[in-house]
Amino acid sequence: MATRTVYVGAHVSAAGGVDNAPGNAAAIGATAFSLFTRNQRRWSSPPLTEETADRFQSEMSGHGYTPDQVIPHASYLVNLGSPADETRQKSIDGLTDELSRTVALGLRRLNFHPGTSKGELSEADTIRRIAAGMDEVLRRVDGGVLVLENTAGQGASIGRSIAQLAGIMSEVREPERVAVCIDTCHAYAAGYDIRTAAGWNALVEEVEREVGLEKLVALHLNDSTGTLGSTKDRHKPIGAGEIGESGFRAIMEDRRMDGIPMILETPEPDEWPREIALLAGFAGVGG
Ligand code: ZN
Ligand code: MN
Ligand code: MN
Repeated sequence: MATRTVYVGAHVSAAGGVDNAPGNAAAIGATAFSLFTRNQRRWSSPPLTEETADRFQSEMSGHGYTPDQVIPHASYLVNLGSPADETRQKSIDGLTDELSRTVALGLRRLNFHPGTSKGELSEADTIRRIAAGMDEVLRRVDGGVLVLENTAGQGASIGRSIAQLAGIMSEVREPERVAVCIDTCHAYAAGYDIRTAAGWNALVEEVEREVGLEKLVALHLNDSTGTLGSTKDRHKPIGAGEIGESGFRAIMEDRRMDGIPMILETPEPDEWPREIALLAGFAGVGG
């Protein structure tokens, strides 16, 4: 049987500098990781120095990571769908800076949440507003890919269905610089019943139909506190929530997910080594 390439890890701390993240990931046995490229609670941060970027890259190779195994996550403040011009402009500037940092770190893809107009604009207008914001970011940064994450659908947030993500993508001027990340907790809370292999398969087939499987470049592996369709964005450790171990076993057994980073954003960092080993075991690759 051919060996599988399975990348599984967690969103690790970059406290003290992004160059600490690869070591933090290695310490928990991660073969993939996510990080914030700057303080995610502020709109602006001191610039990333060349020295830090160089150190990040030597830590990456020192711990055996390639850029394919890493996908930074943008600040939760970013909301390209905001009806308030000031917030939207700050979001465009912030995301531009974060995509620039991603590229400066030798990485390609930056994961972000599409955004919401909190019901003030129609769905179609919000989607157009998000896509136009992405165009602006992509125009201002050389290289890099913006990765849209599906959402739980809370507060009229755009991204509760793959069709909505496809809608954004079809409006963007450079669709080759846009991809998709599936968060399992968000999908379940948005109504995708992924407790079984059949349910997971239906979601993957929807991705294939709406955007193409090659556009799926990352997974967030989180169990869910909220029930099916609850639109509640509350993560649980793997097996401790509504999706359950059998749901995650089906995902890990799916070879179509080989080669893409699968990232835990579960709430108990002490559990990450155990969760990573469990998931790797489901995939048949020793932890
Ligand atoms: Zn996210
Ligand atoms: Mn997520
Ligand atoms: Mn979430």
